[in-house]
Amino acid sequence: MTEETTTAPGNASLAELRGSLAGAVIGPADAGYDVARRGFNALVDRRPAAITRCLGADDVATAFDFARTHAMEVAVRGGGHNPAGHCVCDGGLVIDLSLMRRVQVDGHGRSTRAQGGATWLDFDSATQAFGLVTPGGIVGSTGVAGLTFGGGIGHLTAQLGLTCDSLVAVEVVTPNGDLIRASADENGELLWGLRGGGGNFGVATSLEFDLHPLERVVGGRLTYRGTGLSDALRRFRDLVARAPGDLSCQALLSMDDSMEPVVIVTPCYTGSDGDPGELGALRSAPGLVADGISERSFLSQQHLFNPAYGQDRNYWKGHFVRELPDELIDELLQRMVALGRSPGQILIESLHGAPKEADGAGGAVGFRDAAFNISAMAGWLDPAVDESHIEWARETATAIEPWAVSGGYINYMQADEPTDRLRAAFGDETFSRLRELKTRYDPDNVLNRNQNIPPL
Ligand SMILES: Cc1cc2nc3c(=O)[nH]c(=O)nc-3n(C[C@H](O)[C@H](O)[C@H](O)COP(=O)(O)OP(=O)(O)OC[C@H]3O[C@@H](n4cnc5c(N)ncnc54)[C@H](O)[C@@H]3O)c2cc1C
Repeated sequence: MTEETTTAPGNASLAELRGSLAGAVIGPADAGYDVARRGFNALVDRRPAAITRCLGADDVATAFDFARTHAMEVAVRGGGHNPAGHCVCDGGLVIDLSLMRRVQVDGHGRSTRAQGGATWLDFDSATQAFGLVTPGGIVGSTGVAGLTFGGGIGHLTAQLGLTCDSLVAVEVVTPNGDLIRASADENGELLWGLRGGGGNFGVATSLEFDLHPLERVVGGRLTYRGTGLSDALRRFRDLVARAPGDLSCQALLSMDDSMEPVVIVTPCYTGSDGDPGELGALRSAPGLVADGISERSFLSQQHLFNPAYGQDRNYWKGHFVRELPDELIDELLQRMVALGRSPGQILIESLHGAPKEADGAGGAVGFRDAAFNISAMAGWLDPAVDESHIEWARETATAIEPWAVSGGYINYMQADEPTDRLRAAFGDETFSRLRELKTRYDPDNVLNRNQNIPPL
């Protein structure tokens, strides 16, 4: 991560920036500054010199130009969810896309165009009005662009693949102010890089996705407690090992208020059976204490997790793994007990089904062959216990490491991950190719507040 000293612009310069933008500029003295600089992760508390609320590609180009003139560091903000807090920098300029959230749907053509600051709630609400979906993230306030550029795992991964597999075109403003369209026909290499390589190449002002018909799912939460936790996780593992193409499934280990470990499994079934037999083993497990499975709208499934924004301090670390053997399940349960406090969780996302069937050559994403993504997600409120929570996440990731297959999920990485881990996330060949692309579109590494691909 670069911690350059940047030159804060004077009041006259901020007034000039205000005059040259269609959108708004928020400075430290303005009302709303503290809300505008806050991201999802309360562990990150930075004070930018200015936040530009852009309204379009021209505003983004103007913001880049202003930052260059004043030698300011740049951060890009979509939904503000990245746990590394990359959406905000000290003393620099934030290119904030939160006023660019329009989502237009072509119902007949089954395609959609989302502006660069749209969130999944914006996206799902617009596309579901036509009974259509793209496989996206599971929390509504997460940014569409940020999630897609890192890959994208959610409730429809087994059925429809990673989010970036449905991305067909992007309009990007590069740090030198050029507006470039990337699609299969134009700048195909840039589209390849944006499918998994993160926000390294420019600011996306518009993203186009393929849409797929879907309105109803069978989903919800299954909650397990007591001595049945390990059995529940084994049943989850055995179910997804059969690679059901119409059933995505994730499992979450956490602690309840009485400091007992809990397992929550969230299946999302899209087949034709109103009472899917596949879920039988999960629903009859001895540790089951609450069965919330029902037929529901896809939008209701997307509301299963709604964490508060900007309250918890977060530190996440994990690995993609090739398998989930009994030994690892037992290790994860012990790690949950070792945390000994709430909140804090371990998320297990299954990558069976469509990610394996998609053409891997179409994008830079490096993890589609893994069986699961396992992430220790420490979350807490009190700054006095920062160290112990960060340590717990790191030690938990170390416990998972013997089964690891790559350098981890860039969407969940903190800012302290070394470049070697990012290289491992893609593999040497893809990483070199991404570096060439970075050199072409951002040779001065203006966009370095991200999981950074260094230019050559
Ligand atoms: C509560 C929570 C739930 C999550 N759920 C999921 C999930 O279900 N599935 C999943 O795969 N991931 C999930 N994530 C991870 C998330 O996808 C990544 O952290 C992602 O980077 C967030 O994007 P954002 O726009 O919200 O974040 P920001 O912090 O605003 O942006 C993160 C980075 O993305 C890039 N970026 C964002 N917008 C643009 C743009 N328009 N143009 C260019 N670059 C851009 C920039 O590099 C920026 O620094 C979740 C994270 C949280 C905190």
